[in-house]
Amino acid sequence: MSGSGGGEERFLIETLTPHFGHFARVGKLLYEGQTEFQKIELFESPQFGKALRLDNVFQTSVGDEYFYHEMMVHPALIAHPNPESVLIIGAGDGGMAEEALKHNTVRRVVMVEIDGQVVEFSKKYLEEIHRGAFDDPRMELVIGDGFAWVMEAAERGERFDAVILDLTDPIGPSRPLYTVEYYQAIARLLGDAGIHVQHVENPVTRKELWAQLLANLREAYAQVHPILQYVPLYGTLWSFCNASQTIDPRALTPEQVEARIAERGLTDLMVYNGDVHRAAYALPNFARRLAEAPATPIRLADVDRFDAITAQSESTDHLRIVVE
Ligand code: SAM
Repeated sequence: MSGSGGGEERFLIETLTPHFGHFARVGKLLYEGQTEFQKIELFESPQFGKALRLDNVFQTSVGDEYFYHEMMVHPALIAHPNPESVLIIGAGDGGMAEEALKHNTVRRVVMVEIDGQVVEFSKKYLEEIHRGAFDDPRMELVIGDGFAWVMEAAERGERFDAVILDLTDPIGPSRPLYTVEYYQAIARLLGDAGIHVQHVENPVTRKELWAQLLANLREAYAQVHPILQYVPLYGTLWSFCNASQTIDPRALTPEQVEARIAERGLTDLMVYNGDVHRAAYALPNFARRLAEAPATPIRLADVDRFDAITAQSESTDHLRIVVE
């Protein structure tokens, strides 16, 4: 791994579908390296400040990370009456851990990240995102495969109040961590009272994948409630999902959410509050219909079915980019 500078100003294009995507102007390439698992790039961008890409896909940025990290963590942990132990899979940038550790009920965060070099990189370059979470005494960092770790922990009878999956998209090696069996193993870790959180792509530019992931979660949980949240860096409306056997996060009133925010000692929140909590679970009609659409759950044996759904697009290399 070697950091490298240089690079003229340019636009980076990211496709959401074969026909639509977004771009970001970037300046200096602050870091570039190849780990055992993926390519890491860190750009300086006028819009987002430092922006992290893994295998050419934007992951997070200093300028907008709170849209994503706050809305993945706080609706679920606030919906849980007393979250003390939190398991985080992936999330190598440390943003999820930082938000979870804000809750004064949290006693233990176990974070399982497959790529230790992403963690080392993030510790050095993304302090504005993890804010020292890796040094919190409540934090246990495990470098390993989150799939194997969860399966073994379920066998050991481990228990967590919340499990947060913050993974790269269900393409290639990440695919097994989006299957029914994986969700069922996490459900064992959570028991009746715990809450599962993950991103589920989105119901606008990744319709089929969004419906598929909800169908997979419904095989493991009685309560499955998607959240809609705009994430600027992703160039589109994004979606997370809370799942549980018993917790329905929508049952909390804005006043109850505000009271729990105060009780938990949550401060300096940029997005999350009682009204945002209530609004986040409201689905527009097209999304309601999409969420109810029949989808055959994807199990480990047919994990290849993800490939047809996630076919992002043909490469843009052959496209002529016209800037008027
Ligand atoms: N917010 C981003 C998104 O929605 O795409 C994800 C951010 S985080 C950087 C994604 C992390 O998942 C990466 O650090 C990657 O190494 C990790 N990851 C991928 N597969 C994994 C696995 N099997 N076990 C543990 N971590 C994994």
